[in-house]
Amino acid sequence: MKKITIAIDGFSSCGKSTMAKDLAKKLGYVYVDSGAMYRAVTLYAMEHGCFDGLQLNVEKLRNMMQDIHISFQFNPETGKPDTYLNNKHVESQIRNMEVSERVSIVAALDFVRAEMVAQQQAFGKEKGVVMDGRDIGTTVFPDAELKIFLTASPEIRAQRRYDELKAKGQEASFDEILANVKERDYIDQHREVSPLVQAEDAILLDNSNLTIEEQNEWLMEEYLKRVED
Ligand code: C5P
Repeated sequence: MKKITIAIDGFSSCGKSTMAKDLAKKLGYVYVDSGAMYRAVTLYAMEHGCFDGLQLNVEKLRNMMQDIHISFQFNPETGKPDTYLNNKHVESQIRNMEVSERVSIVAALDFVRAEMVAQQQAFGKEKGVVMDGRDIGTTVFPDAELKIFLTASPEIRAQRRYDELKAKGQEASFDEILANVKERDYIDQHREVSPLVQAEDAILLDNSNLTIEEQNEWLMEEYLKRVED
């Protein structure tokens, strides 16, 4: 069967990763969580004194970009790739609130995006890839055969994120998460470079009231339509 490129974009904490990961597993495709890459750059910036509170020293980060190397290694326990920053496992660290509060600031920078987009395109050059993010269908793979744009209400998304952090035993406040989800949506939609926007040829899915199984079933049908014709 022919291999295609699948782009899953949408708002923060919509379940894009779950959806993308499950589909990649079923199809034997490579899964790439592009948000993890922006999170890893943010963690590096935080660890190397580029932030004073929420204030970012842009020039300092620009000069450090060549020292940042991000890679993924499949974790059989979770069934998804874990993120490594300069060969250090950072999968859980990049998901914490401190990183979430700063990642959209870092992801708005043109030099950060140029570097990440080039790496993402390299990951997908053989096709057979499912990538989730904010600009995959618009900038990274504008020719992707299947593009999904996922959304759900901010409250539902915050609740899912809250449950996820709690399940991992991490501290979480629902109000703080809701504020963060809304803040990231705003910055992602209003930045100058590759803002979060639905690609013209993407299919919109509001999954507020769908179970993961219903969503996966819908996605598989859409995939089959693309490979069968
Ligand atoms: O997907 P996730 O919520 O982990 O992404 C973290 C942040 O990275 C987003 O809020 C957004 O600012 C940024 N991002 C992006 N472009 C992507 C993926 C993520 O700007 N393709």
